[in-house]
Amino acid sequence: MSCPICRKATDTTYQPFCSRRCADVDLARWLRADYAIPAPLTEMDEETADQPTDSDDK
Ligand SMILES: [Zn+2]
Repeated sequence: MSCPICRKATDTTYQPFCSRRCADVDLARWLRADYAIPAPLTEMDEETADQPTDSDDK
């Protein structure tokens, strides 16, 4: 098994990472990804907007 951050051999203390630094990098990525996830409502809005409504619009 290798570190998912830098591909070095993992350390049992920090597995699946090779060092505390790589563990911190992964945690930071997770936190950022968590904030970047759009609200589920946006996806529903897109699907609703996709339906043709021009005949009933005016
Ligand atoms: Zn690493």
